[in-house]
Amino acid sequence: MNRFLLGYALLLAAASSAFAAETPAAAPARPPVAAGPKLVEPHLHIARSNISGHARIALTFDACMGEADERIVSTLVNERIPATIFVTARWLKRNPKAVAVFLQNPDLFELENHGEKHIPAIDKPVLVYGIASAGSPDAVRQEVEGGAAAMVASGIPAPRWFRGSTAKYDLSAIGQIRAMGYRIAGYSVNGDGGSLLGAAVTEKRISSAKDGDVVISHINQPTHAAGAGVAKALVDLKAKGTEFVRLQDVADTGDDKTTE
Ligand SMILES: [Zn+2]
Repeated sequence: MNRFLLGYALLLAAASSAFAAETPAAAPARPPVAAGPKLVEPHLHIARSNISGHARIALTFDACMGEADERIVSTLVNERIPATIFVTARWLKRNPKAVAVFLQNPDLFELENHGEKHIPAIDKPVLVYGIASAGSPDAVRQEVEGGAAAMVASGIPAPRWFRGSTAKYDLSAIGQIRAMGYRIAGYSVNGDGGSLLGAAVTEKRISSAKDGDVVISHINQPTHAAGAGVAKALVDLKAKGTEFVRLQDVADTGDDKTTE
């Protein structure tokens, strides 16, 4: 292996280990890349119930790649808790059993688009948490359309919402994805810190969600402690009288022109 190839291999190794960290990261933000595009990580809220003791919360889960977290899937099904699941083409291909569970429970699960290859939907070249962005408008389009095509091929209704890998975008990519007919799913509560937090802190973050919050966490890391905290938090929230809604069920407000 020549020097160039070795360097490239090391770069790939570094990128794939960063990839495993999922999104958004629990660690403190990295310093911005010099002269890179301006990135935003949009917020999303849903219409509140405004009823005391009856918080309305949208649980959203990213299925980036890897496996299905049965601790979370089974809790959602057994407790009859509705949720919105963002799936990639990569994850769909590896998890037909979990997909079947989602499709068998259409009253619980709304499935939406998390992209084809799980690359950030940013139309200029930049690294986000070590992951190379799509890097061009054509590549953003492919990431979005490839994710949707895989969903439809799996028997899932055509998606209306998109959430990109890392949940970060540049404004021109947001405009492009909106023009393709999608709403873009930000969030207001980072539930599991990219699936890297411990169980107790994850449980606390999610069960502290308030009326109108959109919670993001991951449903694809069955070996991480965070997933146990997610499952406990679902039970906690239900016991508090929470109204769980999916994104398709309610009005919403996203910033950075993600939904208007
Ligand atoms: Zn993801």
